[in-house]
Amino acid sequence: MALTFKGGLHIPDFKLTAKLPVIDLPGDKLHYFPITQHKGAPLKALVKTGDHVRVGQKIADAEEFVAAPVHSSVSGTVKDVCPHVNSIGIKTETIVVENDMKYETAENLRPVEDISALTTREMLWVIRDAGIIGLGGAGFPTHVKLNPPKQVEFLIINGAECEPYITSDHRRMLENPEEIIDGAGILSKLLGVKKCYIGIEANKRDAIDTLRREVRFNSGIEIMKLKTKYPQGAEKQLIKAITGRNVPTGKIPADVGVVVINVDTVYNVWRAFRKGIPVIDRIVTVSGDAVNKPANFRVPLGVTVSYMIEKAGGFKAPPQKVIIGGPMMGFAQYTTDTPVAKTTSAVIALLEAQPTYDPDMPCIRCGKCVSNCPMGLMPNHLNKAALDRDIDAALRFNIIECIECGLCSYTCPAKKNMLQNIAAFKPMAMKAARRGSTSGK
Ligand code: SF4
Ligand code: SF4
Repeated sequence: MALTFKGGLHIPDFKLTAKLPVIDLPGDKLHYFPITQHKGAPLKALVKTGDHVRVGQKIADAEEFVAAPVHSSVSGTVKDVCPHVNSIGIKTETIVVENDMKYETAENLRPVEDISALTTREMLWVIRDAGIIGLGGAGFPTHVKLNPPKQVEFLIINGAECEPYITSDHRRMLENPEEIIDGAGILSKLLGVKKCYIGIEANKRDAIDTLRREVRFNSGIEIMKLKTKYPQGAEKQLIKAITGRNVPTGKIPADVGVVVINVDTVYNVWRAFRKGIPVIDRIVTVSGDAVNKPANFRVPLGVTVSYMIEKAGGFKAPPQKVIIGGPMMGFAQYTTDTPVAKTTSAVIALLEAQPTYDPDMPCIRCGKCVSNCPMGLMPNHLNKAALDRDIDAALRFNIIECIECGLCSYTCPAKKNMLQNIAAFKPMAMKAARRGSTSGK
């Protein structure tokens, strides 16, 4: 039986690239590294224009613990440190490296010889030094997540990949099962958990079978089949499906005894310990009906969207929309100059921009947004509160719990752009809640 949570919806998955093995792409002439790619303390560039850099060399870091350094994926010369567009459409400080195509590696990239000899603190620093963050899209530094305020019982590895089109985690599980299971063992030791679960949606039967074969002699790890339903990979929904536990409002997974780590993040933890390699590349799904040859590419970080589109045979016709990430939670792009950063799991190009919204259509009270909301919220009321800028109402209807999955907008027959309105108003409501004041009208 496939496990799941209440609410959510099975949506067409358009996994066009599920059966396509990962293709390694070489680097491009210029690589763009946004200096800060994680959620946490901002980084500072460690290099300047004219410096020579090597593959795996740290090029940006911060003194704070809640930060993850950035490493060069190529060798060459720093051409500039300047503002450049990032995946959310903002110009952000970026290190531009001219690739000399020699791929000389930094001298300090060494595997850990005896992991069992390391203390927990030392293990966390290995992960921090490798620049590992939530690669499923969350972007939170992994070493911070792995340092919970209390002892946890379970490690859950997130292999759900519930967004349409994206198959980068799916391919990772099929092509690196041994590394993932070894990485899961390293993390289980670090956290001292009773059990590790790997949650995978039922539509990835081949990944479930592959990983089950890999863990057959390991009783500490169990592969859990999850119902194919969006947003099955959201943290709270995954925890509910696998453990039956609810993470209360304002609490974190560790409060219910769980730490959740994305499956590609686990692979990168494995690589940091066993090979000494930091986060310098990633698998990116390039897909959508506007792309000539959809593919899964492994690319050195810093190549642009246009470079990958060209390698995927270019566009069939000018796309209406190009999205970084999935179509439900990703970011629409106004340029293809955007570089691949650590959390760029996919580039989706669509001939028709779906869905369309109509701000003037009235709510017909069908209740679809309410019954599908995975957080049990009333999106229709939240939408009204956001449009009225009514902080009291927004907090009463628990806007803080909205995970911005977009299902309310997706299902609304009145074409209300609820996600956009709710997400735009949420920071103001949360700020007011923190101040204890709700007079925000
Ligand atoms: S975007 Fe928020 S309100 Fe809308 S369905 Fe998702 S969790 Fe519910
Ligand atoms: S889905 Fe749209 S039309 Fe239906 S109740 Fe919600 S807001 Fe109203």
